[in-house]
Amino acid sequence: MSVYTQSPIALVKGKGAKVWDIEGKEYLDFFPGWAVSGLGHCHPRVVNAIKNQCKKIIHVSNNYYNNLQLKLARLISDSSFGGKVFFCNSGAEANEAAIKFARMYGHPKGRFEVISMENSFHGRTLATVAATGQAKIKKGFEPLPEGFKHVRFNDLAAAEEAITEKTVAVMVELIQGEGGINVASKEYLSGLKGLCRDRDILLIFDEVQTGMGRTGKLFGYQHYGLEPDIMTLAKSLGGGVPVGAMVVRKEIANTLPRGSHASTFGGSPLVCSAALAVFKAIDKERLLDNVNKMGEYLLSCLERLKAKHPVIKEIRGVGLMVGVELSKEGKPIVEECLKRRLLINCTQERILRLMPPLIVTKKQVDRAMGILDEVLSEK
Ligand code: PLP
Repeated sequence: MSVYTQSPIALVKGKGAKVWDIEGKEYLDFFPGWAVSGLGHCHPRVVNAIKNQCKKIIHVSNNYYNNLQLKLARLISDSSFGGKVFFCNSGAEANEAAIKFARMYGHPKGRFEVISMENSFHGRTLATVAATGQAKIKKGFEPLPEGFKHVRFNDLAAAEEAITEKTVAVMVELIQGEGGINVASKEYLSGLKGLCRDRDILLIFDEVQTGMGRTGKLFGYQHYGLEPDIMTLAKSLGGGVPVGAMVVRKEIANTLPRGSHASTFGGSPLVCSAALAVFKAIDKERLLDNVNKMGEYLLSCLERLKAKHPVIKEIRGVGLMVGVELSKEGKPIVEECLKRRLLINCTQERILRLMPPLIVTKKQVDRAMGILDEVLSEK
């Protein structure tokens, strides 16, 4: 079905930050798999883990214990805030689980309202579309589930004003990805944390795009010195295979009773083996150091381009999650970059999005910047 806008190339092979199309042309991929292939394409640890695991067992139902799922849950928990984990298959499902969790949490007191942010993106299921703060995502799907409110991002007073006795959760991305690389300020997040704590409201961080090292810390919230009640993960968690997770503060994790939520595919041995390999790669290959170094370098290169090309209005981002706001439409730039074998993205019409893999090298950043410079000089 033609629900996607597609570029006229078919990708058949990938290695690290490079991909090849069906005609054998090589591209530099600065938006690998919409942030799914965070380690780059076909990272050897992920490939080996999948290869080895699929010879043993690919899937078991969640009616039996699954040692790899337990191992992965333990690793996520130990490297974040000690929570318990529910596994599913995508970002939307992880957020859907978080919304259902919040509903169940608030049920005894009749609280069900979720406050989320304008310009947010939380997924394409009905509840996550309702939570998403963009009219174009909702259009035509009304009536949507009730109990969602949107307030301005980075505006604490607006959040406080929107809270009622029915509010059960506040859901927020630390950096709005689809919304245009808008970074939550420290004051804002700590203010939200305070508001939620004082009123027994669940603070949900959607880390689907910011998680797994993208911002230079394993999870984006770790830049802020505070913890959520719930965190959702997906995209690069599985190094390319579909796995999502909802992580919930241990003390409240029993809110969802047995039988109240489930996912047939959630957390299979195959995807868990891949996700375990992702954790291992980030740790053993010191990828967070690379993200911080390359992120800084990328930002400095882009600042130089900004000084040269007045069409660049602002550069923003953290680690390797970077946005370049233009004063005109970004689509022609993306198309021209593709012709010159650089893959990037444009969101909200005017914001170029660069999210190279965590393993990106200085040479690759230089090459990408060279192409972008050429394209901006001509357009
Ligand atoms: N949340 C955020 C912050 C996202 O960026 C996305 C996807 O872009 C989603 C949720 C939805 O994830 P999925 O497409 O895996 O359902």
